[in-house]
Amino acid sequence: MISKSDLKALLATPQKIVITTHHKPDGDAMGSSLGLYCYLIQKGHHVTVITPTDYPDFLHWMPYHTSVVIYTEEQAKAQQLVAEAALIFCLDFNTLSRINELGECIRNTDAVKVMIDHHLDPEDFDDFRHWDINACAAAQLVYDFIVNVLEDESYVNKEVATCLYTGIMTDSGSFRFPSATSDVYRIAACLIDKGAEHWRIHQLVYDNSSENRIRFLGHCLSHKLEILRDFNTALITVDKDELVKFDVQTGDTEGIVNYALSINGIKLAAFIVERKDKVKLSLRSTGDFPANEICKKYFNGGGHRNAAGGQSDTNFEDTIQQFKAILPEYKVQLLQ
Ligand code: 5GP
Ligand code: MN
Repeated sequence: MISKSDLKALLATPQKIVITTHHKPDGDAMGSSLGLYCYLIQKGHHVTVITPTDYPDFLHWMPYHTSVVIYTEEQAKAQQLVAEAALIFCLDFNTLSRINELGECIRNTDAVKVMIDHHLDPEDFDDFRHWDINACAAAQLVYDFIVNVLEDESYVNKEVATCLYTGIMTDSGSFRFPSATSDVYRIAACLIDKGAEHWRIHQLVYDNSSENRIRFLGHCLSHKLEILRDFNTALITVDKDELVKFDVQTGDTEGIVNYALSINGIKLAAFIVERKDKVKLSLRSTGDFPANEICKKYFNGGGHRNAAGGQSDTNFEDTIQQFKAILPEYKVQLLQ
């Protein structure tokens, strides 16, 4: 580990820096990464954001997003940037398995690794850690890192503010989860003062769906939603043929699980999707029901108590059955 003053000294002169975030990046992954990017370039650093995979269309308006290097599309370039970097910022994840092949490249470099994250159980691969599971978003921690660790609030310009607001808005469920504390609202107010146009960001992220996505959502809700009242659980399952039929793109499935959770009395919601290479699960819960425990114990995953994910080793049908078979173990908590 290095100290705060060592890190500040390192950042006092221009450095080659890589920022990376988890695969299938969401609003917080991109918001925290591009927010930090917009800060660091003002300080004269040579910075590249590398994402392990591509990111949804509804984030394709963010400042500097066209400069992002997507590992799966530019592998050699990404590897070279990692090899040359003096500093690597790891944002919105804390285990190297969350960034696929890129994880081993990063493990094997001598660069100083800085983790800025809000997930449970961090792996010990970093040299400096700004980590808090109570933060509603990694973007909140990037704000705190710039303002309180680096004491550089004057560099939170309109672009930094726009990116960080996006991360906080998306990861806090538009400021409605318990993690959206009064401090988070104060940070949001500060970001608006710095130039973040909250109404425009909301519109660009949430009112920007393709016609296909809305029709796919309708299909999921009308035909694929199953309610298991005995367990206060709802699930939506989608196979790979349906993904093709509705031309489902990266990010189109995001948030669908929340509709299942919004049904009255439902405590646990699951979205199970058959992707090309694996079956992926997204779980959401209310109150103190630990969705992450199910993901960790049974589906090689993890996450937050109320929002977690994982994947299955078995096929689509068996995964659905396995999920249903787990519910009796949690019956008491689900019916509380
Ligand atoms: P989503 O359901 O949106 O894919 O993921 C929700 C949350 O669950 C993410 O923010 C992340 O914290 C966690 N998560 C999703 N998939 C995985 C996974 O495969 N492994 C781990 N450790 N966490 C995951
Ligand atoms: Mn996050």
